[in-house]
Amino acid sequence: MPISSNLIAEFKNLLGPENVLTEETDRLSYAYDAAVLKQVTPGLVVMPDNEERLGRTVKLAYDNSLPITVRGSGTNLSGAVIPDSSDTVVILTNKLNKILEINLEDLYAVVEPGVLTAKFANAVAAKGLFYPPDPGSQAVSTLAGNVALNAGGLRGLKYGVTKDYLMGVEFFDHNGELVKTGSRTVKCVTGYNLGGMMVSSEGTLGIFSKLIFKLVPPPKASQAMMAVYDTVEGASETVAAIIAAHILPCTLEFLDQKCIRVVEANSKIGLPTEAAAILLIEVDGSHQAGVDEDAAKVKELCAKCGSKNIQVARDAEEKNKIWEARRNALPSLARAKPTTVLEDATVPRSKIPAMVSELNRIASKYKLEMGTFGHAGDGNLHPTILTDRRNEEEFKRVEDAVDEIFDVALSLQGTLSGEHGIGIAKAKWMVKETNKATIEFSKRLRTALDPKYLFNAGKKII
Ligand SMILES: Cc1cc2nc3c(=O)[nH]c(=O)nc-3n(C[C@H](O)[C@H](O)[C@H](O)COP(=O)(O)OP(=O)(O)OC[C@H]3O[C@@H](n4cnc5c(N)ncnc54)[C@H](O)[C@@H]3O)c2cc1C
Repeated sequence: MPISSNLIAEFKNLLGPENVLTEETDRLSYAYDAAVLKQVTPGLVVMPDNEERLGRTVKLAYDNSLPITVRGSGTNLSGAVIPDSSDTVVILTNKLNKILEINLEDLYAVVEPGVLTAKFANAVAAKGLFYPPDPGSQAVSTLAGNVALNAGGLRGLKYGVTKDYLMGVEFFDHNGELVKTGSRTVKCVTGYNLGGMMVSSEGTLGIFSKLIFKLVPPPKASQAMMAVYDTVEGASETVAAIIAAHILPCTLEFLDQKCIRVVEANSKIGLPTEAAAILLIEVDGSHQAGVDEDAAKVKELCAKCGSKNIQVARDAEEKNKIWEARRNALPSLARAKPTTVLEDATVPRSKIPAMVSELNRIASKYKLEMGTFGHAGDGNLHPTILTDRRNEEEFKRVEDAVDEIFDVALSLQGTLSGEHGIGIAKAKWMVKETNKATIEFSKRLRTALDPKYLFNAGKKII
């Protein structure tokens, strides 16, 4: 049902007409995100420009029973900001983009929800501190989007993911009332851990207005290397061996031959296109001697697991080349075919060799072109199927393959999603990983906090 002109006038009155998009051509830009899913054009797109107006926007929409989808940069890969219906109000956070405080004494920062991840990390670095979570999308993703999906990144293995840095959250509930949880202190056990509840909440429980993040001192020394393998097994066994040796590289990334070839075709950085797989590894720490020791152990393990060629970056330029290979993996794969289906089923790290071999079996069983890359050190691989959605017969095979990928991951005691979230894309599989009681419990929680089920309807729990 279209949103009434009276209600649109109320939004314009509240936010200013320039912050309310009503034209279909404008609204169309918010019908999709980075997932390969059916588009739904929202009824209205609004851009509150301060906290108070954000709260009043939530209240106005909720009181009038309009579905609400809050959107950062729309880079999620699970359909988490595709509107549920054509009367949905999309709340954009792009005008709530201030870094409010970077505290050098107590090592925390306070930000508005729409601050871009890389902009924040750079501002923190400029002050001599470190905000480690670095999703591949960090140049465009927002910090609220990162919290709402608990985004990971290349440094997850040693430094953890977004939730490990969240100290406090303020958010609006369905009445437009401000709820506060956590604090600027390292320790805080006041009240329920509502911040923990809001992590990965995918816009379904409340709308963040302020976030407090922990900062840490940056590492003083690092060493990056690329290990080249003739067999995929060699690379995946190295991952398990490094973890089993209790070494924690800050980054431990995997690229298979398909990825190596598409990245090299696009970027010409001199990758070994005949290799079956490569590992990109970085160790860091406070002292060069300790880093050198870890790097030597890692090299030894790579060689033991079959790598005949281990290239250590001699300077910043060579290090950058190594990371360029990884940064270009998804963009290069996405250019290869009209449709890219990217998954993030994740397994315990010791199961990486089994998962990689199952992925190869699934690709050949369904006769699909698949490249796999990802955060091997976290057990979080991204099998990426290159296809064309318009080819119905092939796309059916893609869907069957994705089903089987999830089944395999779960049978290896893994999870449906390591970092991309459930959104629309994986909601139907939730019960397979959990159980009916868990779904019912989650529904009761959601209904208690959102009695009309208007916050990002159709996502996460269906
Ligand atoms: C090229 C590429 C690389 C990527 N690499 C990674 C990676 O390495 N690691 C990783 O984890 N992800 C990665 N992603 C996925 C994605 O970028 C992340 O999930 C990111 O956190 C989404 O941020 P966003 O601002 O785009 O959020 P959106 O996509 O706009 O929204 C994501 C979720 O956050 C909710 N949300 C947004 N703002 C608020 C708010 N104010 N209050 C409450 N909820 C809110 C939305 O409702 C939605 O449920 C990648 C995506 C792409 C396209």
